[in-house]
Amino acid sequence: MVFQDLRLDPRLLRSVQHLGFAKPTDIQQEAIPAVLVGRDLIVSSKTGSGKTLAYLLPMMQRLLKSRALSKQDARALILAPTRELAKQVYAQLRLFIANTPVTAALIVGGENFNDQEKLLKRQPNVIVATPGRFIDHLEHKSVFIEGLELLILDEADRMLDLGFMPQLNAINKAASHRLRQTLMFSATLDHAEVDELTLSLLKNPFRVALGSGHEQHSDIRQQFIFADHLTHKEALLQHILQHEPIKQLIIFTATRDDAERLAALCNQQGYSAMGLSARLTQGQRNTVMQQFSGGKYQVLVTTDLASRGLDLLQVSHVINFDLPKHAEEYVHRIGRTGRAGAKGEAISLVGPKDWPALQKIEAFLRQAVEFTVIAGLEARFNGISTPTTKRNAKVTSAAAGKTVKKAPNAKPKAVKTAKKTFFEGGDDGTAPVRRKKIDAV
Ligand code: AMP
Repeated sequence: MVFQDLRLDPRLLRSVQHLGFAKPTDIQQEAIPAVLVGRDLIVSSKTGSGKTLAYLLPMMQRLLKSRALSKQDARALILAPTRELAKQVYAQLRLFIANTPVTAALIVGGENFNDQEKLLKRQPNVIVATPGRFIDHLEHKSVFIEGLELLILDEADRMLDLGFMPQLNAINKAASHRLRQTLMFSATLDHAEVDELTLSLLKNPFRVALGSGHEQHSDIRQQFIFADHLTHKEALLQHILQHEPIKQLIIFTATRDDAERLAALCNQQGYSAMGLSARLTQGQRNTVMQQFSGGKYQVLVTTDLASRGLDLLQVSHVINFDLPKHAEEYVHRIGRTGRAGAKGEAISLVGPKDWPALQKIEAFLRQAVEFTVIAGLEARFNGISTPTTKRNAKVTSAAAGKTVKKAPNAKPKAVKTAKKTFFEGGDDGTAPVRRKKIDAV
């Protein structure tokens, strides 16, 4: 199939051509025709699958081809969990509204409320927003959505994780036109609240589930390396910085302090690095993201802010300095690399504190992960076996540089008896941490 087969408005086809896209992705092939015939839609898709165009194109087609249900109200509302993602979507949308009469506004938190009110007074046809700030405007009566024709939820699962269910319900109630179409995108549908939302928001939805979050992303090579404690993780990070062919790198950490310290460490290693954390103001965050995507920095060190939706095509490597608490988040983090057909490397450092998270990730991916050992930087820590964890950790690949192919120090195996032992050093590199270990058989 080529884009012409979708019978889109020539202005939209020109914009697609301008982007250099020859044919629709699988998600786009499934989703666009369904939306064009007026169906509600629920899509589960892996990151980087082309979901943004899967909703922007049919949305634009509807706005260009059919009469507005209301003269004043917004016609389409796109909700995204984070400011960064909302900005990303808005940037893509601007491409498609160029040379059309369609108008749009971006409404996200952290920016001036009064300025946004002025923007909304101009009655934009499309609003891209984060739920919290949008609700503020709805309650303030600076925006009206009774005549809304398209409600689009991007990364619905993430919005629910961030606690936006009440806002989404309120928006659903306010946008009550019977001809409203609702499109929902989520990385995972294995989420009780997503089910609830589907039932309350969507009417007889068309379902598209291509490449669920569980699948291995073939363009991303995943490596896991055992680490004993913080200092050991830093040594591993330095090794990776020195040996991997890094174009751009995102490092994910659990804490703001780590984000700042690791950015400094990368700078010492000759990389231009910036830390992105909630400690920065919105303006500063915007600047850092723009500069990173523009190539000014080679390394971005962040807590979870940059893990979703951002389209950063130069990112060759993602490092999980700490594993995320939720397994879905792991899939999103590594999805920052390997975008649009490029190859990516995802390297995760697994210390004692990361162990429970690793088990969740394995359960989510439905397979045991394999560990890489770097010569000279072997860890004493090699996992905590439990009676339910049958692991098959063997080394098949290695981080670039001097590495050895060998089994982890003590491969965790199926177990019979349990007794307590100590691992030296905690993840914070200070006090020894008492860990429960169960003897291998
Ligand atoms: P998304 O899943 O929307 O974040 O898109 C992931 C990446 O794929 C982005 O860089 C898009 O610009 C790109 N993309 C979207 N649609 C296509 C297409 N039909 N052909 C090639 N690349 C695409």
